[in-house]
Amino acid sequence: MNAPESRNGMRRVGLGLGANLGDPAGNLRRAVASLSEAGLVFDALSSLYATPPWGVTDQPDFINACALARTSLPPLALLDLVKATEKALGREETRRWGPRVIDIDILFYDDLRWRDDRLTLPHPGLLERAFVLVPLAEIAPDLVFGGVSLAAAGSGAKAQGIRKLSEFFPKNV
Ligand code: ADP
Ligand code: MG
Repeated sequence: MNAPESRNGMRRVGLGLGANLGDPAGNLRRAVASLSEAGLVFDALSSLYATPPWGVTDQPDFINACALARTSLPPLALLDLVKATEKALGREETRRWGPRVIDIDILFYDDLRWRDDRLTLPHPGLLERAFVLVPLAEIAPDLVFGGVSLAAAGSGAKAQGIRKLSEFFPKNV
């Protein structure tokens, strides 16, 4: 990845958010509010997108979005925060790729490469999943992963039934 940024000791991270149970858009907004309260500084939020389910297809469409944020937490502490936030919003153990109240994935953490049994960075699905690429390309088109810019990867993915719904926080709500 290019353009790593760490200002004031804070690391730049990308987050992928998804939900398809309860009030999915509200759950994404609550997740961002809760992570902000926990100290993450959000720099950009993509629009909300309706996306067909991936992997397990007999379930409702997802609402997905991506965010750019800064954090002073090290990677595993950020993962702990993400998992605690999912739980606080009512996520229960679910089957892989199955329906969920909220899913928060760490897409990248500066240009760190990490792989252990809890955390893989960058997220291995980043370049494969249109529901990540399209919203992430909206807010970070110039980022490059594996030699491919998100703008190029995102435009190649657009045909896959992904619909832009609204801004993340609509102005008149
Ligand atoms: P999924 O997002 O694949 O549908 P989960 O949200 O249940 O499934 O995540 C499963 C596990 O993936 C988490 O418990 C976490 O330890 C691990 N994981 C590995 N890398 C990452 C990452 N970059 N971001 C979030 N979780 C990750
Ligand atoms: Mg996840």
